[in-house]
Amino acid sequence: MGSAGSQATLADLAAAVRAYVDYQRELGVLGFPRGTAVVPTPRAASSPPAAPARERIERVEPPSADLFTAPGLSTTRSLDELRTFIGDCQRCKLAPHRTRLVFGVGNPRARLVFVGEGPGADEDAQGEPFVGRAGQLLTEIITKGMRLRREDVYIANVIKCRPPGNRNPEPDEVASCEPFLLRQIELIGPEVIVALGKFAAQTLLRSKVPITQLRGRWYDYHGIKLMPTFHPAYLLRNPGDKRVVWADIQKVMKVLGLEAAGR
Ligand code: URA
Repeated sequence: MGSAGSQATLADLAAAVRAYVDYQRELGVLGFPRGTAVVPTPRAASSPPAAPARERIERVEPPSADLFTAPGLSTTRSLDELRTFIGDCQRCKLAPHRTRLVFGVGNPRARLVFVGEGPGADEDAQGEPFVGRAGQLLTEIITKGMRLRREDVYIANVIKCRPPGNRNPEPDEVASCEPFLLRQIELIGPEVIVALGKFAAQTLLRSKVPITQLRGRWYDYHGIKLMPTFHPAYLLRNPGDKRVVWADIQKVMKVLGLEAAGR
């Protein structure tokens, strides 16, 4: 094929890719795979609970924030710069409903980052993540269970503004906001991320696998180990599952070389 023909073919290809990317973006997709994740195949209902599910390696898509939603985001060099970059955010339809944007809190060099879903009423009022009842339980997990201080870790959410009536965040809201979380994580550079609850786990892992199957296993998220576990708000309703979360947290502590309380 001559070079003019090659160029036409390349142009067609580029146009097709662009159309596909635009289409995916409309669906709320932010970027395309680079990293890998270990995603368990669903366990058969009759399998004995002790037998680990077979695992396969699956790609996790890293949102490429600059490409779509926030030009200049990748030039931010610190959490303070990132906060300034986000500013009085009006990028999605949650903005008029919020009292305060909840950026995140903790050690900017934390080895461990907790990621929740989004601010609730208390967080919206105070501008800090996980300060309500679920937050108190998370704080207990950190302080009493892990023997860390809340300020040793970093705590953030997938979205930074409270959805009205605590409804689930919608795909366009996640698409606007998640790149900021990604940049936050890049800037912090933690060794481990704990995804709290179904929404955070499924969003970060680009998965529809139920949290009951996602939790308790390690995933690779942009080169960072990610452990999904149940959300503290779920634990308030299902205290019997605290021991399951504790088992997940102990795996995290082991990776971080931390000793559990009472040992
Ligand atoms: N639930 C969350 O997911 N995040 C918070 O900040 C508070 C409650």
